[in-house]
Amino acid sequence: MKYYDKLIFELSVPGRTGYSLPEDRYPAAEAVPAALSREAPLPLPEVSEPDVVRHYTNLSQMNFGVDTGFYPLGSCTMKYNPKVNEEIAAMPGFLGLHPLQPAETVQGALEVYEGLEKALCEITGMSAFTLNPCAGAHGELTGLMIMRRFHMLTGHPQRTKVIVPDSAHGTNPASAAVCGLEVVEVKSLPDGRVDVDALKELLDESVAGMMMTNPNTLGLFESRVGEIADLVHEAGGLMYYDGANLNPLLGVARPGDMGFDIMHINLHKTFSTPHGGGGPGSGPVGVAHGLEDLLPTPRVERCEEGILKVKGRAGKPKCRHEEGEHHCCCGGRCKLSAGEVSAFTGNFGVMLKAYAYILSLGKEGIARAGRLAVLNANYIKECLKDVYKLPIEGVCKHEFVFDGLVNDGAREGVAGATTLDVAKRLLDFGFHAPTIYFPLLFHQAIMIEPTETESKETLDAFIEVMRRIAYEAAEDPNILHDAPHTTPVSRPDETAAARNPVLSWRPVSLVVCRGA
Ligand SMILES: *Cc1c(COP(=O)(O)O)cnc(C)c1O
Repeated sequence: MKYYDKLIFELSVPGRTGYSLPEDRYPAAEAVPAALSREAPLPLPEVSEPDVVRHYTNLSQMNFGVDTGFYPLGSCTMKYNPKVNEEIAAMPGFLGLHPLQPAETVQGALEVYEGLEKALCEITGMSAFTLNPCAGAHGELTGLMIMRRFHMLTGHPQRTKVIVPDSAHGTNPASAAVCGLEVVEVKSLPDGRVDVDALKELLDESVAGMMMTNPNTLGLFESRVGEIADLVHEAGGLMYYDGANLNPLLGVARPGDMGFDIMHINLHKTFSTPHGGGGPGSGPVGVAHGLEDLLPTPRVERCEEGILKVKGRAGKPKCRHEEGEHHCCCGGRCKLSAGEVSAFTGNFGVMLKAYAYILSLGKEGIARAGRLAVLNANYIKECLKDVYKLPIEGVCKHEFVFDGLVNDGAREGVAGATTLDVAKRLLDFGFHAPTIYFPLLFHQAIMIEPTETESKETLDAFIEVMRRIAYEAAEDPNILHDAPHTTPVSRPDETAAARNPVLSWRPVSLVVCRGA
């Protein structure tokens, strides 16, 4: 451990301060009534300014991010996010806006909303989008609320069954359950694609719809998607597209053209907003022609006079019926809308970054990004498939899945190296681990998604390290069992760490470390 890996409380020395304020200008706060003041001073660390600066700077460097290294996390699209987008989102004219400002004073911001909505329609082939939902899973919930609303309005409240492939992202069944729908799983065939015959068995009067990702979570294109959409539609259901990872489709194919009715996108994956650590994100939801009025309110709309307005906003007079007539501020839309899903119109800063990204890449650039993401994934797969088991051969899209090592080094008295061991060992070489043990279809899943923003040199370096790890496993798996050897924490008890995380330094320990 380096000296400065010590926490700031451990560096505390009684009486040391990191600041000095002129006492005549800042008198002691005598005005605080006794009832409100602390009984004992707060046990803050007593340290100098350099200690504080080093503490926070070192802490910031203990984290791994896409700005510090290659991050091949499958089903997550950790692409590099151009810094210019951050600068645009931080421009004072945008930053200082208030959602309750009169529409006339925020026409530029509303134009960003409108422009991004149009761009997403163009990219996906949907008819309209709401940008209000704040995350991918939030978009799923919104989309399913629209699906449910559709069946209610068309007189089919009994349609509550949502079909989800066994390879689906965990949020899909979770969102359906939260929406009060019943989740039914459809199996995949050995080639990793939906079993259409098994799907047929599930289609009946109770089907609300089907949720799909294409390419699916294994990075494989569902070549029978058109047929699947026809079957679900014939059964009276709607098709939901999980577009969290839209990278592979960019400029090549559109969910709207594949027969999907409702979809969400993760702006914080595909459209260049940093993610991880819990937000802020944005999960716009798009709908096909005919479902526009079911989108949640408020909606940004251009009025006849050419002015952009936010319609159906919370706090404004809502629907009221007078003498048999319906009055409201959104032209009757709130009668049909699936409801409100966020405060105002969502996370505007994320929209700005996405819009800046789309405009700076342009049509050609967007299509190139998608193709490069696919090329990079196939390059890594082909370079490693002799040492890592590739359960499903063939061209992948933006990501692919290995099923552990070809030779895990297992021998008399020595356990073989697992996928967890490989992932941990990668940390020693400065790479983030891929997604592991997901999807659940394979026992030793290693899911790799390189994205388009990595150079061939970075991909080659990663391949070299992955090959070296495979060699180490074959020679002596024990090297991997103890990895990582170079990180501040090696192998925490992951279950305990997730259930009882210790997120702050406890003052109790201060007492202990001072020996008081
Ligand atoms: C990331 C992801 C989601 C969920 O997105 P969040 O913003 O984390 O809620 C849903 N589906 C897929 C396929 C994803 O990769």
